Amino acid sequence: MKLDALIVAAHPDDAEICVGGAILKLVDAGLRVGIVDVTRGEMGTRGTREERDAETAAANQLMRLSVRRNLEQPDGRVQVSVEAREKLARMLREHRPELVLAQHTDDLHPDHAATGRLAREAWYLSGLTRLAQLDGGPPAARPRRLYHFMGHVPFEPTLVIDIGDVWERKVALVRCYASQLAPSGEGDRGQHFLFGADILSRMETRARFFGERIGARVGEPLLSSGPLPVDDLRKLF
Ligand SMILES: [Zn+2]
Repeated sequence: MKLDALIVAAHPDDAEICVGGAILKLVDAGLRVGIVDVTRGEMGTRGTREERDAETAAANQLMRLSVRRNLEQPDGRVQVSVEAREKLARMLREHRPELVLAQHTDDLHPDHAATGRLAREAWYLSGLTRLAQLDGGPPAARPRRLYHFMGHVPFEPTLVIDIGDVWERKVALVRCYASQLAPSGEGDRGQHFLFGADILSRMETRARFFGERIGARVGEPLLSSGPLPVDDLRKLF
């Protein structure tokens, strides 16, 4: 299926937490949006696989995605292997999105950083004619734009999406992942700084900070993988 936008994230719920507002706005605009989760999140401290699958299904309903696929890489061990990047490049050729949003290549979680690099390399490879021929699948097609979204490590964004009109729906979307929102008891590193704070309040703090940067209530920051071309200078206004 031809998509307009594809989001690439390491674990189910990463896409919703980081760019759930962008996804809702894209779908509201009548565009076809898909997500590729690189793993099934089976190594996560919180929630069983069954719980997490049910939560993802509930989130999918709210997002009205055209497709959600999984790259079936091992959670906690994501690598930029030839196999993984060619598998993702094939998905890009199959869905031919114009826009790809992927995790940033710098992140404390190695799976997030590896997913960012994997997406960047697959994005490039998806446009190589000979590789597509060798693969025997759909013809070469490289998405026009690749942007990275923010995980643990902040960056100075190229742009910030005003998500004020969909903020409450984004919160509802992330609430679908109830097993991820509270410590699960024994063995949960609830005191670690990455886990101690409520995910929803951290998400709101970031959204308000970046929203303030553009004079909006809440925003989602993105980093372009390269300079953005402008021919019509009115677009600078
Ligand atoms: Zn994650």
